Amino acid sequence: MTDARLVRALCAWFARHARDLPWRTPGEHTRRDPYQTLVSEIMLQQTQVARVSEKFGAFMDRFPTPGALASASEDDVLAMWSGLGYYRRARSLRAAAKQVSDEHAGVVPSDVAALIELKGVGRYTAGAIASIAYDMPAPIVDGNVTRVVLRLEGRDLASDDREAQELAWRRSDELVATANRSRASVVSPGTFNEALMELGATVCTPANPRCPVCPIMPHCQAVAEGTADSIPKPKARAKRKPLYCASAVCAQDDRLLVRRRPDSGLWAGLYEAPTIEQGDSAPSEREITEALHVRIGALIGEFDFATTHRDVRFRVFAGESASAEGDWRTREEISRLALSSPQRRILLGP
Ligand code: SF4
Repeated sequence: MTDARLVRALCAWFARHARDLPWRTPGEHTRRDPYQTLVSEIMLQQTQVARVSEKFGAFMDRFPTPGALASASEDDVLAMWSGLGYYRRARSLRAAAKQVSDEHAGVVPSDVAALIELKGVGRYTAGAIASIAYDMPAPIVDGNVTRVVLRLEGRDLASDDREAQELAWRRSDELVATANRSRASVVSPGTFNEALMELGATVCTPANPRCPVCPIMPHCQAVAEGTADSIPKPKARAKRKPLYCASAVCAQDDRLLVRRRPDSGLWAGLYEAPTIEQGDSAPSEREITEALHVRIGALIGEFDFATTHRDVRFRVFAGESASAEGDWRTREEISRLALSSPQRRILLGP
């Protein structure tokens, strides 16, 4: 089967099976609002669709235009980002909104070269915005696209392998160009790119791909060779490091003590209960007291939390602080601050 038939089959499938997501207009799968596409694509970079679906609407209500986002305070933006993780993306998105306001008269640009100049926008995100919002034949490659391409071509490579990436970009480019040449009612570059990502997310999944219902199965080399389950090859994993954290929950009347983390490093700029962290072993009571200027009481909780590269062990103590370092806030005020997931649990409960 030719690329043109593959493109048509995938777009027709998408027209029937696209998930109803808050950043998609019902019944219309291309030509989405460019600013909305910028926001959703940045949110989706490292966060699950279900979590982004919960947060996207409130974020757009609060910052409905690039100008509104550009003029908001960083604390406000981080607070609305709370729960999405990887907060550097929120800072980049705010900076990108400023660029759009100052350099592009408030309109997200349509070409890949200009999009890539925006803070936090890489080759994938630029291609996604150009194709999905402006229907330009720009290729996109993310983890889903790489996996689908490797299986279609029957190539047993790890998805972060250089050869795999080159192959994925080349095939994505060829296929979206085919979609551009074959435009029809349900076929367009934007629809094709979304369809390819959707197939990877819902049918050609990492484990147990649902080949019998796949619209492009007749094109798939991995199915022909019975290798779909073993492609891609597992990535070589970097060794995870432990991190030991101790937090002190200090209460005064109905207020709790919070401090803001430094502007760089893990959970940069987010608020937290006074917390000490060590890489080699759990901090002793004396180390906690000296570092936090807090008197430590009973152990009130313990839990584990995994970041991308770390296994973090939290111990939570009741604390007493006479120091003025930090802010005393009510739980209601704290719930509106930018908090990491573990600190939300420590300060506001699971
Ligand atoms: Fe993926 Fe199976 Fe479809 Fe091939 S046939 S693209 S392995 S879901």
